[in-house]
Amino acid sequence: MQRKALIAANWKMHTTSASARKLAEDVAKTWNGGEDREVLLAPPFTVLKEVASALAGTDIILAGQNVCWEEQGAYTGEISPTMLKDSGATAAIIGHSERRQLFGEDDAMINKRLRGALAFDLLPILCCGETLTERENGKTFNVLETQIRQALADVAQADIASVVIAYEPVWAIGTGKTATTEQAQEAHGFLRRLIEKLYKKNIAEQMRILYGGSVKPANVDELMQQTDIDGALVGGAALDAESFGRIINFS
Ligand code: PEP
Repeated sequence: MQRKALIAANWKMHTTSASARKLAEDVAKTWNGGEDREVLLAPPFTVLKEVASALAGTDIILAGQNVCWEEQGAYTGEISPTMLKDSGATAAIIGHSERRQLFGEDDAMINKRLRGALAFDLLPILCCGETLTERENGKTFNVLETQIRQALADVAQADIASVVIAYEPVWAIGTGKTATTEQAQEAHGFLRRLIEKLYKKNIAEQMRILYGGSVKPANVDELMQQTDIDGALVGGAALDAESFGRIINFS
């Protein structure tokens, strides 16, 4: 089955208005388009509107780096799905390892965020991945299964295929260490079989599974050739329009 590739940029806590506009405009200039792929930018919340305006007239998707499950209320520091949509975003990253590790987000909270995103028609990019210790202790598949089962708990079967999973081994994020293509494909194959086991074969076949962890121009082509790798979630290399431009136009 032909799945449309998705190359997503996570700008993390980088850029203010002027630099965000410039980066978005520069990325848009490098984007050659293509029926077989989509591009998404997830800037900080504070510059979503700026980036939305810079991307006007392009088909580049705009995303938040997180989303709350409630529409409004006493949730200091949170951003609701409707606020994201009001800023021009149509997608949200959920469960990034930095949220899990630095801000204590657990699988139950990630499940609430995911269901909140789906309830408001935001495309969720659900991150999962093992730490180095977990990998070295042979726990990778157990960790992935627990994270996925709990994040997808009580999600309607009809919504599952629209969830995008991002496999991001924690030890490869921002470290310059990329998983080998074999390690990445092995984890992606496991995730697809898990979705088939939990739901249906056709849902597993439709689901897009992105790889994240030090993706760069030098390794994107090989990663994208793997059967079960349907795109990339890119941190560091997405802050440079030339590098990201090369990544989105992978061959
Ligand atoms: C990320 O932030 O999701 C990520 C994969 O970062 P990097 O590409 O810098 O490893």
